[in-house]
Amino acid sequence: MSAPGLRAKAPGAKPAAEKPAAPRVPGGSQVLHEGDWSTPSTARLGMLKRLREQGIVSEAVFEAMRRIPRERFIDEALWSRAYEDNALPIGFEQTISQPYVVAKMIASILPPTGKLAKVLEVGTGCGYQAAVLSQVADEVYSIERIRGLYDRARNNLRQLRLPNVRLAYGDGYQGLPDAAPFDAIIVAAAAPAIPPALVQQLKRGGKLIIPVGTNSQQLKLVEKRVAGVIESQLDMVRFVPMLNGMVK
Ligand code: SAH
Repeated sequence: MSAPGLRAKAPGAKPAAEKPAAPRVPGGSQVLHEGDWSTPSTARLGMLKRLREQGIVSEAVFEAMRRIPRERFIDEALWSRAYEDNALPIGFEQTISQPYVVAKMIASILPPTGKLAKVLEVGTGCGYQAAVLSQVADEVYSIERIRGLYDRARNNLRQLRLPNVRLAYGDGYQGLPDAAPFDAIIVAAAAPAIPPALVQQLKRGGKLIIPVGTNSQQLKLVEKRVAGVIESQLDMVRFVPMLNGMVK
């Protein structure tokens, strides 16, 4: 099975040793991935095992997270911690989301087929979740309000050559009207209330997942049905705040 935007390893592909040097953890002892970055390291497989133990059941999510190298989205100094189940700093006072939360949120918006057509992420950060989404959606749009992070995410994603991810620099409270409507919207920062523009930009039958609250936050799932909008409550979570406007 080949995922969009990723080159499947051709039969008889050159052995890893002939490929460009794999990045190493400072100290030189642990190789996080060799050769083809989508080949999972022991650490990445360990993360997947833990996600199963934590109750994630979506095979499409596992496959996507098996392929995306999380270490590529964080600073080298943190590589040895890349597959811990923690949020980690990515600069600009922001964090890369915890793997469990990424898995949980994506699983909650995926249809039974395990495939989405067009999805919007609000809060690109370093681009990790957008990369994971690129494996379960035909088209991924992601919007970030901090220019420095938008640039960083673009560089991170360019290395992986994921042609189905488009990044936008803007305020996620407005959504992305030019690309709307979306089959699903996933918000990676906590808003005080559900932003109406995002609900508006959802297709009928579409799903929006968003952490809501300030001190205490809860994941909310919004489904847009013919009969109206249905809201349900999921896990308690801890996200950075969703803020208004843009930062140059
Ligand atoms: N998706 C990231 C997590 C990023 S953290 C991952 O894969 O790990 C949340 C991000 O949301 C931060 O980068 C923050 O700057 C951004 N953000 C906060 N408010 C926003 C808004 N109104 N519009 C767009 N991005 C926003």
